[in-house]
Amino acid sequence: MPSSIKFGKIWGIEVGVHWSWIPIFIIFTWLFATGTLDHFFPHWSAAAKWIAGAITSAIFFASLLAHELAHSFVARSKGLDVRGITLFFIGGVSNLGGEPRSAGDEFQISVVGPLTSLLMGGVFAIGWAAIHPFSPGIAGVSAQLAVINATLAVFNMVPGFPLDGGRVFRSIIWRRTHNLHQATHVASMAGEGVGYLLMGIGIVFFLFGNLLNGIYFFIVGLFLRGIAAGSYQQMIAEETLAGLKARDAAMQNCEVVSPNESVESVVDNYVLLRNIRCFPVQSGDNLVGLVTLEDIRHVPRDQWPITPVEKAMTSFDRLHAVSPDEDLRQVLQLMARQDINQVPVVEDGRLLGMISRSDILRLIQTRRELQHER
Ligand SMILES: [Zn+2]
Repeated sequence: MPSSIKFGKIWGIEVGVHWSWIPIFIIFTWLFATGTLDHFFPHWSAAAKWIAGAITSAIFFASLLAHELAHSFVARSKGLDVRGITLFFIGGVSNLGGEPRSAGDEFQISVVGPLTSLLMGGVFAIGWAAIHPFSPGIAGVSAQLAVINATLAVFNMVPGFPLDGGRVFRSIIWRRTHNLHQATHVASMAGEGVGYLLMGIGIVFFLFGNLLNGIYFFIVGLFLRGIAAGSYQQMIAEETLAGLKARDAAMQNCEVVSPNESVESVVDNYVLLRNIRCFPVQSGDNLVGLVTLEDIRHVPRDQWPITPVEKAMTSFDRLHAVSPDEDLRQVLQLMARQDINQVPVVEDGRLLGMISRSDILRLIQTRRELQHER
């Protein structure tokens, strides 16, 4: 998720929040301030209720974080690379590098999150019992947090991939059938089903006048349906690309230009006449940078005759170059992670070609079609 705000690191794991978290934090603060806190502390000023509401929301998000940290720690102990945690409106997402190696690993990584939420629910329930004789109000807030954490545990155990419960479900099918593809297919169909179900519940809430719940269920359902379908397509893509290298997808539709050549001459000679769209800039034997149509567009039209490509190019050290033997799946992940559309394939300082996201998607499409023919 590129659109997130970084908070910092906890034991080496980068923690951030998605932009959608900010309105949700405000809504939770409002719900606590005007609900639970208003009920238990009616004599408090509005400001005091809002501050206490924000603190309660922060504790709630800390328990979400505990859930995600549990996933990350177990994943790391199973040898997976943990890139970071992003909290957003449905809960959180741990960004793991790669898939679990075995059904057993996946089961443990997935089940530990809801177990942590359940544990947190238990801790807040004990808090309620312990505090109640002294302050029924604070005990009431603790009880509320216990209920929320228990609800989270239950919701996450719904067997729709990629929710935790869906992953647990997938690991069970995976162990039985020894077929990860089939397991993912079944689990993500269940995920889409759960998504539609939640959207339906949202519509029912809405029709009965419960607007907030209606909208919340509908959005969560829509979102779950989308990521369930997406995660299956991603697996198809990864399967189709298995065994392919960067060199297999590199397109040779590039033309080497010299650093002093003017942008205008590049446009006139290559772009307009021959529809070439990428230009490695070579000085002697060295690749010093790359000019794309995007770079050219950044130069004002009247400057084209007097601007050398050297000034317009993206210099080599800022390019995310890959080697020809790089796994194509890694290349696709790199482009998704860096949010870039094309990468140069470079061997010993020489450009072999470019790979764009659309080239890879076309490659997947073609290979899938040929597989169906056979
Ligand atoms: Zn989880």
